[in-house]
Amino acid sequence: MEYEAVIGLEVHAEMATNSKMFCACLVVDSTQAAPNSAVCPVCCGLPGVLPVVNRQAVAYGMRVALALGCTVAERSIFDRKNYFYPDLPKGYQISQFEFPLAEKGTLTIHTSQGEKVVRVTRTHLEEDAGKLTHVEKNGETYSLVDLNRAGVPLLEIVSEPDMRSAEEACAYGEAIRAIVRYLGVNSGDMQKGVIRFEANISIRPLGSTKLGTRTEVKNLNSFRAMERAINYEIKRQAVLLDAGQPVLQETLGWDETNEVTFSQRSKEEAHDYRYFPDPDLPPLVISPEWIAEEAAKLPELPRQKYQRLLEQYQLSEDDAYFMVSTQEMADYFEATVKAAGKIPAKITANWMTGEMAAWLNQDGKSLSELKVTPAILAELMQQVESSVINLPTAKKLYSEMAESGKSAKDLIAAQGLQQISDEGAILAMINEVLEANPTELQSFLDGKETLSNWFFGQVMRLAKGKANPGTIRSLLETRLNERKTE
Ligand code: ADP
Ligand code: ZN
Ligand code: MG
Repeated sequence: MEYEAVIGLEVHAEMATNSKMFCACLVVDSTQAAPNSAVCPVCCGLPGVLPVVNRQAVAYGMRVALALGCTVAERSIFDRKNYFYPDLPKGYQISQFEFPLAEKGTLTIHTSQGEKVVRVTRTHLEEDAGKLTHVEKNGETYSLVDLNRAGVPLLEIVSEPDMRSAEEACAYGEAIRAIVRYLGVNSGDMQKGVIRFEANISIRPLGSTKLGTRTEVKNLNSFRAMERAINYEIKRQAVLLDAGQPVLQETLGWDETNEVTFSQRSKEEAHDYRYFPDPDLPPLVISPEWIAEEAAKLPELPRQKYQRLLEQYQLSEDDAYFMVSTQEMADYFEATVKAAGKIPAKITANWMTGEMAAWLNQDGKSLSELKVTPAILAELMQQVESSVINLPTAKKLYSEMAESGKSAKDLIAAQGLQQISDEGAILAMINEVLEANPTELQSFLDGKETLSNWFFGQVMRLAKGKANPGTIRSLLETRLNERKTE
């Protein structure tokens, strides 16, 4: 049986406000601050306290909602979602249920299959829970509770089940992450858990329009984990259905080491959250003026930037998509193109998607660590453009420049890398190569035309990689043609 996968995503993004969602405690980096150093009676859930809504969190949440094309509700309600867990001191989480902050948006994603519009069901505000650390020491097991994160504003973004593959789900996740980073409301740092993904996965016979039973994989902390977990679930569910067994609706975890999902909770054990409006919080009323004010603050978003770059610089779709991955990347691109003057934007794009991306990917470095500034890259490109060095030499220089921040001009002078463009010198080298390799020359003359590439390589080697490749090619072609008719 052939199946189709159906995937819906829930994204939890912390809002990078100064203080927590309902109290004045500072939002601190949980990997840096001492445990329980940013807590107060409100976020510790002590009796008799009253929560107060953080206006900045509402503004940030609204910006994300508007960037996703959602309609912001002029009246939404905070509810209590009741369940007990040691990292949730109140015994309930303040969330929004029936009347969320915003609803009905869309997000265009970019995959190898082209573009696709995914519908966003809703976005709502809630508070994060604390953090548990499970310890096993001297035969004892216990858990430590850190409430620094308890009460940090969270925006939950729920999609419709519109994705059909792990690739689409990851593209959606990446697009959401890009948007919150563009808006400056979340650092996008998945390792720190400030943005977290849950994938709901079901399969159905290809052609069917009925939804199958879904499983929900929690706590995916990288796109790699998300991709693998989804593909694992699709296969696991297909094996079950093929064997005539049902898929059970359950909550799963992802075992990173063994690359398998495991059951955390079945439908029978699912919480009954007994949602009800939080009596401590009045309805959240947002005026149309405030909505308009936040809408006016939206920067050029990834999608708009993508379309502008396509048009303005005639980039390929893949190049444009690469450039808009972050605002810094797009700014770097535009600054380099500007500094490079008449050099086509495509050449800047090639450097960025080639050498730069390779350098960044090497050890997961960030753009801010790269010492090749737009001005330095533009100068390197100009050295190639004006034939001072050839492209292979320039590429070799790049990684050295990335670490040292030295300019191409300085390195060329210091290392004597100037390209040999002198025709006489290059011709002499061609003749030397042809003479030194009579067998290959004969094979070439007998019809093995591909050997011209080999000769090219030999000449370049003789020139220690410094000869102008275009000049070698044209002189070599002439010379080989002469030999044919000699
Ligand atoms: P819950 O809190 O029960 O997880 P939500 O409404 O927050 O419910 O999220 C449900 C998510 O699951 C949504 O992203 C939705 O698109 C997705 N979903 C619902 N039904 C299916 C299904 N049959 N297959 C895949 N995804 C589904
Ligand atoms: Zn507090
Ligand atoms: Mg869910």
